[in-house]
Amino acid sequence: MKYPIIAYGDPVLRKKATAFEPDEYPHIKELVENMFETMYAAHGVGLAAPQVGMSMRLFVVDASVFDDEDPSLKGFKKAFLNATILEETGEEWGFNEGCLSIPDIREDVYRKPTVKLSYYDENWKHHEESFSGMAARVIQHEYDHIEGKLFTDKLSPLRKRLIEKRLKDISRGAVSVDYKMKFPDVKKGR
Ligand SMILES: [Zn+2]
Repeated sequence: MKYPIIAYGDPVLRKKATAFEPDEYPHIKELVENMFETMYAAHGVGLAAPQVGMSMRLFVVDASVFDDEDPSLKGFKKAFLNATILEETGEEWGFNEGCLSIPDIREDVYRKPTVKLSYYDENWKHHEESFSGMAARVIQHEYDHIEGKLFTDKLSPLRKRLIEKRLKDISRGAVSVDYKMKFPDVKKGR
C-alpha cells in the first residue's frame, strides 16, 4: 500500500519523532514494506515515517542506485528503527540533495562523510554500525527527518531567501509532482 507523502509546511515534519516499542507496532514489517513501496513509486532513495504522517523514529533507505559509483552499495536496502547517531566524523563534503517532501528543489548540502549509529532492523535486531559515503549521506538526511529537521535548514541565509517562495508554493500544492502528496495549505473544498 502506498501512502501520500506529506509536503513541506506540515507540522509533522517539524516534530522530533518518538521512539517506539515492539508491542506498540506488531505490524512493523508491513509498515516498512509500505514505506518502501511509497518510496519506490516516488523514485526516492530514502523515506522517513514523519513524511507519511507518522511521528515515529523509523526510516527506510535504498542506496543501491549509487552502486555504479560505490560497488559496496549493491543491494543496500535497510530499515532503521529507533536510530540514534553515536558520532559523525570526517571533513564535510557537499552533495546536491533533494527531498520527496520538497519536490523540484535541489541544493548543495554539507555533511560529514562517516556516521556511526545505534539502531534496530525490522526484526528488532540491534545494530551498532558505521556507514560512509552515499550510504551515510542518505541516512543523515533521513535521520534529520526523525529529528524534525529538513535539508533546507542547512542552507545559507541567501539560498533560503531564494527558495522561500517556492517552498510556500509547495505547501499550498502549487507544484507538479508525479506521486501522491498531501499539502498542508490546500484549502478544503477547492
Ligand atoms: Zn527528505
